Amino acid sequence: MKYIEPHGHMVSRTTDDYQRMALAGCVAICEPAFWAGFDRASAQGFYDYFRQITEYEPKRAAKFGIKHFSWLCINPKESEDLQLADDVLALIPEFINKPNVLGIGEIGLNKNSRNELMILEKHIQIAADYDQLILVHTPHLEDKLKGTRLILDALKNHSQIKPERVIIDHVEEHTIDLVLDQGFWAGMTLYPQSKCSPHRAIDMLEQRRAERIWMNSACDWGVSDPLAVPKTMLEMRQRGWSESGVQRVVLENPMAFMGQSPKFHLAG
Ligand SMILES: [Zn+2]
Repeated sequence: MKYIEPHGHMVSRTTDDYQRMALAGCVAICEPAFWAGFDRASAQGFYDYFRQITEYEPKRAAKFGIKHFSWLCINPKESEDLQLADDVLALIPEFINKPNVLGIGEIGLNKNSRNELMILEKHIQIAADYDQLILVHTPHLEDKLKGTRLILDALKNHSQIKPERVIIDHVEEHTIDLVLDQGFWAGMTLYPQSKCSPHRAIDMLEQRRAERIWMNSACDWGVSDPLAVPKTMLEMRQRGWSESGVQRVVLENPMAFMGQSPKFHLAG
C-alpha cells in the first residue's frame, strides 16, 4: 500500500533509509526546516540548509522514486537569537518559489519564550503575505498544552490565516481536541521512546474518526524510526481497520492538506 511520510528530516538520513521507505510503499516525503541537531553559527548556515532541502534532497529522493517537498523557517530552538532569526527570515523570499516548497514550517514554540513568540508571529505574517500553508511544531512534554494554546491564539489573531491551511504537529491526547475543534489539522509523531506510540496514535485516530489527522515518523537526527508509519499501518490492520480506512490516514489525508498548495502533486 502507498503512503506519504508527511514530516521527515531526511538530511539526517542515509540512502539506505530512502531505499527501505521506498520498499515499504512511500511515495512522497515532506521535510520541514528545523534544528539540525546543532545550533548554526550564522544565517549562512541556513542558506546552505535551505539549498539542501530545496535542491539536493529532492534529487536524492528521486533516485528511489520518491517525491520530496519541503517547508522553510528558522525553528523556535534557534530563534531565541533575534538578530539571527531576522537574518534567516530575510532569506525566505529567495527560496519560497522553489518548485518543492509547500509553505512555512515547522514554526512554533520550544520553551514558550517571548522571543520565540515574536518570531512565530513574523513567520505567520510571511505565510499570509505569500499565501503559504503553515506547519507548526508544538513543544514537548509539560510545556505542550500551554505552548499549543499560545500558538493557536497567535494563528487565530491573524485575520488572513485560515485554520484549514494550518497543521499543528506532535499533538497528543491532551492537545488533539483543542486543535481539531478549532478547525486546524493535526499531526501525530510516532517516536520509539518519546512522543507517541502506535497504539496511542491509533486510539486517537479512532476517537476522532481519522478526521483531519496525519501520522509521521519525524525520522530526524535523534532516536527515531523512518518506518514508523508503515509499522503503524500494520498495527491498524491488526486492530481491524479496513484497507480504505488505513489509506485515508496515510495517503488521502496528507494529500488533502498539502494539495491546498498548487505545488503538491505525486505524478511526474
Ligand atoms: Zn520535525
